[in-house]
Amino acid sequence: TQILSSPANPTSVLPALARAFSSQTPIRATLFPGDGIGPEIAESVKQVFKAADVPIEWEEHYVGTEIDPRTQSFLTWESLESVRRNRVGLKGPMATPIGKGHRSLNLTLRKELNLYANVRPCYSLPGYKTRYDDVNLVTIRENTEGEYSGLEHQVVRGVVESLKIITRAASLRVAEYAFHYAKTNGRDRVSVIHKANIMQKTDGLFLKCCREVAEKYPEITYEEVVIDNCCMMLVKNPALFDVLVMPNLYGDIISDLSAGLVGGLGLTPSCNIGEGGIALAEAVHGSAPDIAGKNLANPTALLMSSVMMLRHLNFSDKAEQIQNAIVSTIAEGKYRTADLGGSSSTTEFTNAICNNL
Ligand code: NAD
Repeated sequence: TQILSSPANPTSVLPALARAFSSQTPIRATLFPGDGIGPEIAESVKQVFKAADVPIEWEEHYVGTEIDPRTQSFLTWESLESVRRNRVGLKGPMATPIGKGHRSLNLTLRKELNLYANVRPCYSLPGYKTRYDDVNLVTIRENTEGEYSGLEHQVVRGVVESLKIITRAASLRVAEYAFHYAKTNGRDRVSVIHKANIMQKTDGLFLKCCREVAEKYPEITYEEVVIDNCCMMLVKNPALFDVLVMPNLYGDIISDLSAGLVGGLGLTPSCNIGEGGIALAEAVHGSAPDIAGKNLANPTALLMSSVMMLRHLNFSDKAEQIQNAIVSTIAEGKYRTADLGGSSSTTEFTNAICNNL
């Protein structure tokens, strides 16, 4: 399980904080069940935590039904305050209505809480066969700017403009996180993914910042890979990659591509890291409206995200116990959800995990 535990651990960056957390139990953590399949898979996490006797008290916050003027979105100010106070939380997916004109819930969370790095481990699960059995990579996505700056407008009729913002401060910060993550998690290569040949100013600055940080870590192999080539290499031989760091939009795309290499979006977790030691874990996938409310969703990605949260809190034993129960349930093959070729419901799969704890 070494392979499994190491990439899912974003925490060693904040060891003092983690120690402080583990000295006082139970810990209060914020839970956003979210939209679509969110409440169903959040229920799985609550059930598994209860069965594993994890000393967490959830502070649950649902997305509001009206725009809160203090956040300019459907997220309430109280829910953001809850994360600021607890400094740790778990988030279900939140739907973003296309072209509706209000601020995306995910963007609001990232900006308001300054969640600057999104850590997305992706690894082959023992016992679940895909074309590859040796994927073990971590995408580190810059989470606050780039193409997601939210600065879009119409220039004249029929012409719109979207601004891609890259700053030296945010690029240095995420690059530093990526190298430090590699160093403290026993990884020896960082690849920066970019398109600086075309986006010379924006990706050029991102690349320059990564080079600067790389110089401080001579023990880590540093390489630069153009995003299109990276996609080809990932599909051909994903074992070439270890830690990948990149601007926002590329991280969104590459992590879904990577999820496809190991069995799909139902399996891949993530954790958002913010200033001041905030950690908000969430699945990589969205609200899956096509299967919402049908008890069909695979809760693995959110469960694995909750495992990342537990590692952040230094609850390593509980994290290991839950992770092993998930892996062995999938490997046994008797209870799998439809996305993994099985016919179990979310509830049956969750019960099987609890029985394997
Ligand atoms: P999606 O990830 O919700 O779904 C893509 C496909 O994967 C669907 O076929 C879905 O059924 C399947 N899938 C996803 N998660 C699954 C799971 N746990 N178990 C089984 N199957 C699963 O992507 P989408 O349909 O493009 O987006 C739906 C909504 O979610 C949109 O509003 C989007 O903006 C939002 N979204 C939110 C987040 C987030 O909250 N972080 C991330 C991505 C998308």
